Amino acid sequence: MKKAAIIFGLYFFVLSFLRCYGQQIASELPTDIRVAVVIDANQISVQVPSAYRLELPYTGELLRSGPSLHKTMVYPETVGVRIGSFNPMVFGVKIIAPPEKGLYVNENKIRGTLNIIRNKNIKLTAINTLSLEDYIRSVVPSEIPKDWPAEAIKAQAIASRTFAMYKMYVNRDKDFDVRSDIFSQVYKGKSVEYESTSVAIKETQGLVLVSESTIFPSFFHALCAGKTENVMQIWGKKFIKTLEGTECAFCRQAPRFFWEASFTPSQITSSLNKAGIRCSLINGIDISEHTPSGRVKELILKSKGKEILVEATKFRIAVGPDVLRSTNFSVQKKDSRYIFKGQGWGHGVGLCQWGAYFMAKQGYNAKQILQFYYPSSQVVHFSKAMLP
Ligand SMILES: [Zn+2]
Repeated sequence: MKKAAIIFGLYFFVLSFLRCYGQQIASELPTDIRVAVVIDANQISVQVPSAYRLELPYTGELLRSGPSLHKTMVYPETVGVRIGSFNPMVFGVKIIAPPEKGLYVNENKIRGTLNIIRNKNIKLTAINTLSLEDYIRSVVPSEIPKDWPAEAIKAQAIASRTFAMYKMYVNRDKDFDVRSDIFSQVYKGKSVEYESTSVAIKETQGLVLVSESTIFPSFFHALCAGKTENVMQIWGKKFIKTLEGTECAFCRQAPRFFWEASFTPSQITSSLNKAGIRCSLINGIDISEHTPSGRVKELILKSKGKEILVEATKFRIAVGPDVLRSTNFSVQKKDSRYIFKGQGWGHGVGLCQWGAYFMAKQGYNAKQILQFYYPSSQVVHFSKAMLP
């Protein structure tokens, strides 16, 4: 009893010490997350099947309200945002519907509110603000199949919540916290929510991962194909103890373990130019460096007698991350096409989703799965987690 009291006291002493030195606790974050569901669009469709309000974002000034809003196109104008024929001459609008009814953006049903902002480039960005737990209820079945074992669902929920909170902290001064695609985590709105996944997620409510008491970017990916990647190798990020990479034999039986992709030189050249990597027609591709896990780190592209060094992760994003599924590949030229033969799917850092699936099938629980993919991490309630 006495020992427990000492440990308890010590815990609060450390907590208050860290707070004195400026490190915040995760419970100081807002309860809502801001998700960019559309970025830089020329038009966006919106629909509210029930009573709605259009407000000025941030001030809440009422612009218009009504019993319902039929499907209406929103356009950027030189002087503001136009909703159908209504142009309130403002930089952005906030659409509010009753929480239980939801609203539609580009035919996609969402919970929460929607801010549509006209950017400086005269395009529109739509930001959906909703509670973090509602967001997780959609993210998990957007990321993995709803019929996966409950312990794999729970592991994904804790990893997704941790990743979201990390992004909410680091992007707190930006216009939004996360995107709704693979560059953050996939979020498809209310339509993908499913009762059994929501029940499993609720059992993890408020739980996050910490490494050395601190929330970290708990990356995950579909299939590591044998070894997860050290985070430092991919984005040149600083060392994160729990993201050094680990051997994973669990995903060996995953479907589509191997893949093949082929491109013409002109397809590759045009994709690279679109991604801002300037080059003339590519006439040679060599691998210049591998990471210790065996993935390609850097490529040498030959173009008009010049050699261009390109990071493999940038190359993958440029040519299409769902076609060139990972950077674990070999490349050769055959009949005027470049043939890439590879393994796995995704960047390879952190949790391997197919590995988590097979671990859960073998009886491992969510905590054991997370501790396998994020070694030395712990699962705690966010009120006990520090922010970086
Ligand atoms: Zn794996």
